[in-house]
Amino acid sequence: MASQTEENYLKSLFNMANEAGEVNISELAQQMQVSMPTVNSMVKTLQKNGWLIYEKYKPVILTSEGKKEAALVIRKHRLTEMFLVNKMGFGWEEVHEIAEQIEHIHAPKFFERMDEMMGHPTVDPHGSPIPDKLGRIQEVNYSTLSQCKTGQLVVLAALTNSSTEFLEFLNSRELNLGKELKILSKESYDQSMVVSFKDHASETLSEKVCDRLLVRVVG
Ligand SMILES: [Zn+2]
Repeated sequence: MASQTEENYLKSLFNMANEAGEVNISELAQQMQVSMPTVNSMVKTLQKNGWLIYEKYKPVILTSEGKKEAALVIRKHRLTEMFLVNKMGFGWEEVHEIAEQIEHIHAPKFFERMDEMMGHPTVDPHGSPIPDKLGRIQEVNYSTLSQCKTGQLVVLAALTNSSTEFLEFLNSRELNLGKELKILSKESYDQSMVVSFKDHASETLSEKVCDRLLVRVVG
């Protein structure tokens, strides 16, 4: 059974891996905010457990076992966030820190029941996919709002960033998942966009915001 620290390393490795599944060790140390000796000794432990491949002076690579282990922690995290929002009435900006703790509980029945009670959701409150029981993730290819064109009609489907500050910003604009946006214009100078949606005839969104909104084009 993975310890809490090991699980957090696996999650970071999973999120940081490039297409080839590689992660640079010094970047991992930075991400985990630890020294190189600390990260090196953890990498060796993870290797002993069969979760990654490590060779001196090379990036580490998660094994399929390591990927599965990480995906199952992410599953617990995202199920928890969904449960907190759907069943307990929390806002989507309030759930991450709680899920960071609950994801480390080793009680499969607890999460199975949670999953059942919600009717097996496939995404979390921020639109990120929930891995299945075998750790498989169904990635959906959305566009960012910034990739869209004037005149298009899109539905807000997910976010590339779900920091509390960003979620609070979206709350203040009444922008939530499932909302239909019409792109009225795009400013060529700074790439900001003017959009309209329910009860908002005209709202300007900066490039930074548009980059963080993942949408499905509907028209
Ligand atoms: Zn979260």
